[in-house]
Amino acid sequence: MVELFATDKLKALYPKVKTFVEEELYPIEMELVHGPWPEAKARLDEKRVKAKALGLWAPYLSEEEGGLGLSMTEFGQISEILGTTPLGHYALNCQAPDIGNIELMHQFASEQLKEKYLHPLMKGEIRSCFSMTEPEFAGSNPVNMGTTAVKDGDEFVINGHKWFTSSADGAAFAIVMAVTEPDASPYNRASMIVVPTDTPGFELTRNIPIMGDVGGGYISHSEINYNDCRVPVSNLIGEVGSGFMLAQQRLGPGRIHHCMRWIGICERAFDLMCKRAATRELRDGKMLGHQQTIQNWISESRAEINASRYMVLHAADKMDKEGSKAARMEISTIKFYVANVLMQVLDRAVQVHGALGITEDTMLSFWYRHERGARIYDGPDEVHKASLARSVLKQYGL
Ligand SMILES: Cc1cc2nc3c(=O)[nH]c(=O)nc-3n(C[C@H](O)[C@H](O)[C@H](O)COP(=O)(O)OP(=O)(O)OC[C@H]3O[C@@H](n4cnc5c(N)ncnc54)[C@H](O)[C@@H]3O)c2cc1C
Repeated sequence: MVELFATDKLKALYPKVKTFVEEELYPIEMELVHGPWPEAKARLDEKRVKAKALGLWAPYLSEEEGGLGLSMTEFGQISEILGTTPLGHYALNCQAPDIGNIELMHQFASEQLKEKYLHPLMKGEIRSCFSMTEPEFAGSNPVNMGTTAVKDGDEFVINGHKWFTSSADGAAFAIVMAVTEPDASPYNRASMIVVPTDTPGFELTRNIPIMGDVGGGYISHSEINYNDCRVPVSNLIGEVGSGFMLAQQRLGPGRIHHCMRWIGICERAFDLMCKRAATRELRDGKMLGHQQTIQNWISESRAEINASRYMVLHAADKMDKEGSKAARMEISTIKFYVANVLMQVLDRAVQVHGALGITEDTMLSFWYRHERGARIYDGPDEVHKASLARSVLKQYGL
């Protein structure tokens, strides 16, 4: 917890979440992430009951909605603790992509959609997914999209091919981005539509292996075909053609959540690296941590993690005070900076562990494999760097 950003509410909550994560989740994480999802889900459901009883449930929701009413800065620091294990966010029902969908639907969905989909999602009774990226088009510029939703009476008929729809396996519904207004300007062509996964024509083709790991259930990324999927027109979120505006709304807070989660992973990898450096003997009394290269890695990692935390909390603070739009430059900055710190810290931790680092006997290999995507999703590094540089150069008249 950073004193500068610590409120009384956070000071009371933080130690409770830390104890819950360390005592309830660390002991089962290895077994659960490498086992079949249905078994993991059953064990995690028990942990969710415990989290509710301890008053830790859905910290980002307002108190009226059954959450803890945390600001972005407060939730960011809770998110760091939760991120130290792959199970943390799930146990408190604040995992991506559900958290983004909840925030989006809370703001823009009709009362009818809220009743049917949002409320069970907030209670943790169902899961959801977000289906925008397509294999045939560059996801970095999603205005080019092949999926269409054509109005037929009081229904949309959806056809398209998506992939990397995270956590679709077992989800109750997808929020699908589809072109509804083909003749409109590029940023006004697409809409977001709720498609229940039991809709005829919703075909989950496969879970895509990530560096060989196919995963399952919540821990998976699916390829999906939408074949003449018919849903009521009332499943539209917001206005027709507002899909990209809504996507932007969804992504701002999401990037803060991801960055703080990555810092949690960094802290855990750093801890593992230091423990190994202090205990691995090279020759009589000469430990790995006595080597200057290893000391450099430890110091560089410490500095980079600390810098990342302050940068993200500064962005979160700006978002709390001035909104997502005002914090755009800060959000682009943290997105590529922290993703790269994560890569460096994980890589150093793996290297310090030697062969052990690439086995499944520590959590490092799971993160190394599954977090490589951090530099790609929610905007690849290069896109954020270009956007930041353009904003900077604008101040110089370019
Ligand atoms: C783990 C993971 C989870 C994901 N989850 C979801 C999900 O739940 N729902 C969903 O809809 N999508 C999801 N995605 C997809 C993600 O949003 C896309 O992968 C991302 O937008 C990039 O699109 P692309 O893969 O088509 O890469 P492309 O657009 O083909 O880009 C390839 C590369 O080109 C470079 N590049 C792109 N644009 C520029 C530029 N302007 N300047 C310079 N270089 C550039 C970058 O290095 C980029 O990595 C996920 C992806 C990953 C890896």
